[in-house]
Order: sequence, then structure tokens, then C-alpha cells
Amino acid sequence: MNSEILLEVRNLRKHFRIGKSLLKSRRQTVQAVDDVSFDLAAGETLGLVGESGCGKSTVGRLLLQLIEPTGGSVKFDGREMRALTREDLRAVRKQCQFIFQDPYGSLDPRMRIWDIVTEPIAIEGSMTRQQRRARAVELLDKVGLSAAAADRYPHEFSGGQRQRIGIARALALSPRLIVCDEPVSALDVSIQAQVVNLLSDLKQELGLSYLFISHNLAIVRHITDRIAVMYLGKIVELAPKAELYRRPQHPYTSALLSAIPVPEPDRPIQPIELHGDIPSPINPPAGCRFHTRCPLAFDRCRSEEPALQTRRPGHQVACHLAGSD
Ligand code: SF4
Repeated sequence: MNSEILLEVRNLRKHFRIGKSLLKSRRQTVQAVDDVSFDLAAGETLGLVGESGCGKSTVGRLLLQLIEPTGGSVKFDGREMRALTREDLRAVRKQCQFIFQDPYGSLDPRMRIWDIVTEPIAIEGSMTRQQRRARAVELLDKVGLSAAAADRYPHEFSGGQRQRIGIARALALSPRLIVCDEPVSALDVSIQAQVVNLLSDLKQELGLSYLFISHNLAIVRHITDRIAVMYLGKIVELAPKAELYRRPQHPYTSALLSAIPVPEPDRPIQPIELHGDIPSPINPPAGCRFHTRCPLAFDRCRSEEPALQTRRPGHQVACHLAGSD
């Protein structure tokens, strides 16, 4: 990893307007992503973690301009994404690819694998059919699949192999950044580690940067350099991986970590139970958004929203109780 900032995200917001309900006569707004800021260095893997519905996948889509932000700024390589012409945006998108959660749903069942893998190149029109086929074999080899896979169809492969095909397609245009959206959560546990290891190896070999989105802190541990924890549309803690696992400062992070099974039965960690469901992003709680479930909440938490502040070098926390050195 070097210190060159590849992606700079500032105060990113996405509010979706939704229709009226039986009980509400006015249109309502879902605050899916609210005031999210972070940097991603070239060669870095940043984990974005949180429960389902916390806005982490929406962040991934906003970064690649697959959906329009409501506000805020995303700069890729120093260039403001929203200010790009359509042609420049297309050029930047080649450098930013996506790996989806459901490998089968993202592969056209009627296409042969080599056509799927090189579809982005075909759209670009930069290679002959013969060159594309040769490139497909090269990409399949990179993800651990043989040349024989090139002429087969998606249904002939297992879930793990299909995710490898999805990864090969994401590599086709030699990107610099890949947004991996829950890339292993649909796979058997025994296969998850293989795909995470493959992504890790490819990062080293090709100098890639990843935004690795997952609901599972146990999985991101193996691949990330830093981790941002999201709750109800906001980042509540962001820290280098080792620091976050050793000294979590936010009660939500502590609860997520306490739920990870520990391989050392003589040092059991007491699970921290979170009561209640995650509140609706349509009408998030006032003050700290986590106060309705936080075991440490006190009066101030119900009225005053804690800002995301640097408490130690590189370690940001949004909690009134977080301390500094
Ligand atoms: Fe809990 Fe209060 Fe900290 Fe929010 S600000 S995480 S409610 S202690």
C-alpha cells in the first residue's frame, strides 16, 4: 500500500424519496447514506461493515456513480466524479469495477464463459474476437480456472467457481479499484476462505485497491487494512484493522466483535446483546442513532448527535463516551 489517495469521499449522502403510506399522507425520505466521509489509498483494502440495511451497499453504488448522490463529493484520482463529462466518466468507470454478491445472478446463462469474462472489452471494442478469447483464457488462469472453462456456460460451475468468473470479468479492463459487495456471503463457508485468499493474492499481484463490503467482521479481518463500521447510514468507527479488533471504541463495534466465535475456549468473550431491531432509516432516532439499542446510552445520547472524531492517530469514533489518549 502507498500513501497516494485514490478515492476521496466527503459528506456523501443518499436520500431516497418514497411514496405515501396508509398512515402518512406526505411523501417520506429514506436516509440511506448520511454524511459519510473516508479516503482509500492506492493499494489499500478498506472494509465497510454493518448490519443489513445500514447503507453500505448504497455507498458502493454511489462511488461508482451507479446511482446519483443527494449530496457530497466523490473524487477518484483527484477528479470529482459528478463533474465528469459522460465520456470521462466512462473512462473512469473502466478503472473502477464491481463484484456482486450473487455470482449466478450477474452471469448471463446464455453466454459462454469467455464471452462473459470479456464482455467489458467487447463493449469497449478494443480487441478482435480472437484477441478477446485469448484474454479470457489469461483472465481465467489468473482466477484459478482452466482454459477448458472458456467454452462452457455458467450453470456448469459451482458457486465458488462462478464467483471466480465474476472476478475474472471485473479484471478484464485492468481496473485500479474494485468494489466487492458481499462477494463471499452467498458461498459455502468452506469456499469463502478460498475466494478471499484469491482476492488477496490478486491485490498483491496487480496492485489493486478494494472497498470490501460485508456484514461479517470475521471475514473482513482476513483481507482489509482498515475497517469502517456503519450504522443506520453513518460511519460510527473507522480504524486500522489491528487497532479496531484490539481496542474497539464504539459500543456497536464491540457488540459486532463480541458475536464472532473465538477459537480459544479458555478466553471466552462475553457476547454483548443488542436489544431491539435496527430502527427505520425513514425516521432515524434523534441524537445518537444507536441510542435505542446501546447498552451504555445516557441522557445526552438522546438529544445530541456525536460527531465522528479522531481519538487516536487514524482512529475515528462517533460516541460521546469515546476517549482520547
Ligand atoms: Fe451509545 Fe451514547 Fe455512545 Fe451513542 S453516543 S454509542 S448511545 S454511549
